[in-house]
Amino acid sequence: MGNKIWLSSPHMGHAEKTFVDEAFATNWIAPLGANVDGFEKDICAYTGVPHAAVLSSGTAAIHLALIMLGVAKDDIVLCQSFTFSASANPIIYQGATPVFIDSEQDTWNMDPQMLEKAIQQYVSAGKKPKAIIPVHLYGMPAKLDSILQIAARYEIPVIEDAAEALGSTYNNKACGSFGDLGILSFNGNKIITTSSGGALISENESWIIKAKFLSTQARDHAPHYQHSHIGYNYRMSNILAGIGRGQMLVLDERVKQRRSNYTFYQTALKEIPGITFQPEATNSFSNRWLTCILVDPQKTNGITREDIRLHLEKDTIESRPLWKPMHLQPVFAGAAFFGTDVSGKLFEKGLCLPSGSNLSDADLNRVVLRIKELFV
Ligand SMILES: *Cc1c(COP(=O)(O)O)cnc(C)c1O
Repeated sequence: MGNKIWLSSPHMGHAEKTFVDEAFATNWIAPLGANVDGFEKDICAYTGVPHAAVLSSGTAAIHLALIMLGVAKDDIVLCQSFTFSASANPIIYQGATPVFIDSEQDTWNMDPQMLEKAIQQYVSAGKKPKAIIPVHLYGMPAKLDSILQIAARYEIPVIEDAAEALGSTYNNKACGSFGDLGILSFNGNKIITTSSGGALISENESWIIKAKFLSTQARDHAPHYQHSHIGYNYRMSNILAGIGRGQMLVLDERVKQRRSNYTFYQTALKEIPGITFQPEATNSFSNRWLTCILVDPQKTNGITREDIRLHLEKDTIESRPLWKPMHLQPVFAGAAFFGTDVSGKLFEKGLCLPSGSNLSDADLNRVVLRIKELFV
């Protein structure tokens, strides 16, 4: 048996430790300092969004985004169903009601038609939704043109969940830069990582100033501790921001490496009937955070994605089913859903293959060898 092959593991460059050492040398071991400021500047430069707040997680960023939009008890928030639970959980933190929108086949992301259907239904019931949360799953840009047009027509703000899509572009513009607010994640499994962390980005400076205020316990300007708002402890540590600054220097390289994984798998597996890949539209550029396949048992002699997953696991290779949609999650059993279960079918057939930027050629060949074994 070979070494364990992970789905997506952290991949440090050369400069991370230098930035962290600097924080130690200057004793800025706090949720503020040169690395926090520097990392925010780097994110703004990379995404082209003028204002950023780095935070303890992407989840915290979504929570603060909802607060900026005034989402409160019993408000409706429209959220992509096919996503990680962190896209939706902060809606519940605010006491608001998530309504889940199905995916379309092309990008696997929010279906604009279902989005409009949901909006129309809630608007005619006198309950206009407060926000829309589309997601760029696995780094693949959602159909932003249509989603943004609909959002503009009904004047509903968009929180763009780009947690998986740093380095992806749509019409040559960075994912995360399209919504009224964008969120990024630097969790351990993402394309770049600070071990844990996230960012809120926006063109609206006052929102970012307010997010920084709320994320550091909402301390009013006073010599004593004075509070006129409920605050949060959501700011990013200056140590972790140092890792982030180092990671930004290798981000484009990481995108190249992940895209090269995708090309490798696609070429190696293209002969196997019943295995297909997540397509990329011509106006879209995916960071290919994770390479995902769909396995159609009707064309594979009954071999399912679960058969592949278990076979890989026997050789200590980690793969994982696609995200289980929120409308199928026990915790959201009572939530409304608009769609025809496109996302449910993707979940049934889909598998994420090992996709780290630090996989060796030997690792990639081993994954492909094991998959091909099942099909002889
Ligand atoms: C990772 C992720 C998040 C949450 O980010 P954290 O930094 O882990 O809190 C949100 N949405 C999606 C789609 C994600 O993949």
